Amino acid sequence: MAISRKVEEFIETSSWIRRMFEDGVKLKQQYGAENVFDFSLGNPNVDPPERFRELLAEIVEECRRTTGAHMYMQNVGYTDTRAEVAAYLSRKHEVSLSHDHVIMTCGAGGALNVVFKTLFDPGDEIIIPTPFFAEYTFYVDNHGGVPVFVETNEDFSLNLDAMEKAVSKKTKAILINSPNNPTGRVYDQESIDGLATLIELKGRQYGTDIYLISDEPYNTIVYDGITVPSILKACRNGILITSYSKSLSLPGERIGYIAVHPEVADYENLMGGLTLSNRILGFTNAPALMQRVVGRMQGVYVDVEHYKKKRDLLCDGLWQAGFEFKKPGGAFYLFPRTPTEDDVAFVRALQKENILVVPGRGFGGPGHVRISYCVDDDTIINAMKGFANVMKQYR
Ligand code: PLP
Repeated sequence: MAISRKVEEFIETSSWIRRMFEDGVKLKQQYGAENVFDFSLGNPNVDPPERFRELLAEIVEECRRTTGAHMYMQNVGYTDTRAEVAAYLSRKHEVSLSHDHVIMTCGAGGALNVVFKTLFDPGDEIIIPTPFFAEYTFYVDNHGGVPVFVETNEDFSLNLDAMEKAVSKKTKAILINSPNNPTGRVYDQESIDGLATLIELKGRQYGTDIYLISDEPYNTIVYDGITVPSILKACRNGILITSYSKSLSLPGERIGYIAVHPEVADYENLMGGLTLSNRILGFTNAPALMQRVVGRMQGVYVDVEHYKKKRDLLCDGLWQAGFEFKKPGGAFYLFPRTPTEDDVAFVRALQKENILVVPGRGFGGPGHVRISYCVDDDTIINAMKGFANVMKQYR
């Protein structure tokens, strides 16, 4: 084998995702794509707002008339864009940010890697509540960090006592993701305030700086009047990471940002490190054209009603079919309990009904499946019979 043992292992660990994908391709070839109900991917199925396309055309036109529009830039991104983002965040979070607190990145995935690269010495720990976005394991490993997984409560809310016990002198950061992929859970204000206090106290106890990293690419997709508590308002050591992949349906364009609290610990070094890391990971700054576009689209999002309707369709149908779950407060995932401990067997049973979902164990949540409902309404409606059939087999 010519490739590294580690990557070989990673391929193996994530092989069920690949197998699922391959099975899905086969099913689609056999039965036709319209007869396969694919809930496996978190790929937004709604187009960006019309304003995005208009602006894109206007900016391409502006670039035609501007010399040097496509040159290298500062690694942190265009100052104008960062200032627009900072102004928006200052209004939203009631914390005064300037462009000096914002770094444009290649999506949230790029941002997480930039932050981890900057923070970790080999063996440094990062606390991650489970279930979690599966890529975190790889991202943390990329930079020599060690993930310390902590289970959430039954309803996927944060278990602060367990998190407190997990903090050690090696803890560099706590990473949260709210609204959560795969559970759809939005952590409440009390939990965020509790985390902020925990970080402060433990940092003092160990004489270290612990950062609270909030990965929030779904923070505009929330339902039923729920709001996502502000990490920047709650925590001086808050680092906010987000992207336009979901809020504007632009996952292919790779655009997002990191924003740090103005009084964050070790600000100068932290910003210096983030800036350098945004250059040396291979992607070197965020895409220029997209920076120009999103800078002028602050506060514009995909209509959340689009996803709410789907959430309600799915929840109502699965509820009647006998599924047990916590109704998601945000994002576009449902994470129901499986009627057997063997979530892979349940996934296989659903495949026989041409339904593709992902086993919960891949997200550190065995005994569940992740159903991604960013799909056509018809996919949800037409899959219900199959969901009910499989559930009947276990009852
Ligand atoms: N974080 C979470 C929780 C996600 O679900 C995703 C993508 O699905 C990402 C980060 C990466 O997002 P991006 O496309 O902005 O890199």
